[in-house]
Amino acid sequence: MNKEFKLFNTLTRSVEPLQLLEPGHLRFYSCGPTVYSYAHIGNFRSFLTADLIYRTALSIGWKVTYATNITDVGHLTDDDLMDPSGEDRMVHALQSKEGERFANIWDLARYYSDVLLEDWQHLNLLEPTVQPRATEHMPEQIRAVEQLLASGHAYETSRGVYFSVASFPAYGNLSGNTEAQDLEQSVRDVVVDPEKRDPRDFALWKKDESHLMQWFSPWGWGFPGWHIECSVMSMTYLGEEIDLHAGGEDLIFPHHECEIAQSESLTGKQFAKHWVHTRFLQVEGDKMSKSRGNYYTVRDLVLPESEGGKGIDPLALRLTLLAGYYRKPFNFTFNTLRASIRHRERMKEALDLVSGALEANCPGKDVLVGKLEPLFDRALSAMLDNLNTPDAMAATLEGVKEIFSAGRLNGASARAAQRWLDRTNALLGIVYHDREVVDSSEQEDTFAKQVEFLLVERTAAREGNNFVRADEIRDELSALGVEVMDTPEGPKWKRRSTID
Ligand code: AMP
Ligand code: ZN
Repeated sequence: MNKEFKLFNTLTRSVEPLQLLEPGHLRFYSCGPTVYSYAHIGNFRSFLTADLIYRTALSIGWKVTYATNITDVGHLTDDDLMDPSGEDRMVHALQSKEGERFANIWDLARYYSDVLLEDWQHLNLLEPTVQPRATEHMPEQIRAVEQLLASGHAYETSRGVYFSVASFPAYGNLSGNTEAQDLEQSVRDVVVDPEKRDPRDFALWKKDESHLMQWFSPWGWGFPGWHIECSVMSMTYLGEEIDLHAGGEDLIFPHHECEIAQSESLTGKQFAKHWVHTRFLQVEGDKMSKSRGNYYTVRDLVLPESEGGKGIDPLALRLTLLAGYYRKPFNFTFNTLRASIRHRERMKEALDLVSGALEANCPGKDVLVGKLEPLFDRALSAMLDNLNTPDAMAATLEGVKEIFSAGRLNGASARAAQRWLDRTNALLGIVYHDREVVDSSEQEDTFAKQVEFLLVERTAAREGNNFVRADEIRDELSALGVEVMDTPEGPKWKRRSTID
């Protein structure tokens, strides 16, 4: 099987195989979120692309060092090229209604980054090799700015330190944004520092003694520009040159363009060989926004109804996000989500069927391996071909069908099916959670115990012909959002999702 891993490279504008600096070892950085609020499903579409790259590389036996940051220091709501008087997203969040419950900005950052990690697990994103925080890398960022000043790539004004775009002729290569007019256009609404030498120059350090998050630097109290954080963390964990850098399409300019300028000016080497960008997610054909009422965080969908969510199986949400090709804008619809919920149900049934058959271990010849292994190869080939998730999904759903059409599974076929399910899960992460979801698991345990208790009581009531009590319990369970299925092995239950 061909082990070439091809991805569209924004830098060269073509689909190219990843050429690793060290054979068999992928060094990969993906831009993470600013933790000023709950991450939304669009953010997770971009994080999912990174996760799928990670999983695909592991599936072909590569070693992967995967770093993705947490931006826990605010950058500006407006264009971030330079504006020291623009509004900081984290400060803005603290001053909003939602921010009232936090004692200070540090608490706010900690809370939302904890929630981010919970959502990360809900959606079965693998744990990155390292998930560094910007606030924990301040000395490195200050050092990088000092070096840029020393080498003449940066200069200081009374408001901050700026990167001099004129000192880096390749500026604009990634985005194609080379026209002076375009660059000025992108800073048009921004209050300009009169001491700035060129409108294209962007901030490396902002002097601000009144900012809620500030550090002491050779230029006084202040905080770093947004772009420098990623350059520094990528170099700290992955080295001066890396194979791949990823993020959402909005990051191409200015964020990634600025990262390249800073990093390559610091080292004189190519910062990243391959650049991958995920197109944006829309909801029901519209831009996702709070004012349009079509804005969804992961929690809005996956938390149980009792906690304000819609009780959707998080892996069904993952499956929905996977249904679209990352290079095309993705239209998230509740119809697709409904279809994913059904696919997930079938997958769970297949898992149950296989685990029952493994236990029973009936004799007989394997009838599945010849059918399932080619389907896995098809899914893997699709992923290696520029992350063709729709094709990989189609192959996977065919495999699930094969398991059901195999009739009563003997032990050998069950082992083949289990191996296929495991490999498919390692590649796509949609069959079961790879690691336990730890967030509200205690609450989940209590909830499960409560449901089990009611079910035992219901069975006892029915056996004692106390149908009034049995009906009361059914209503109680229904109010808890629980659906009960009576099966020959006794009652089974699942959470009802509110979009059924
Ligand atoms: P932010 O917290 O805004 O820096 O965003 C974190 C990541 O999510 C970045 O890689 C963004 O490009 C990405 N992102 C933001 N909105 C969307 C969206 N609607 N669809 C896909 N990715 C997005
Ligand atoms: Zn970044």
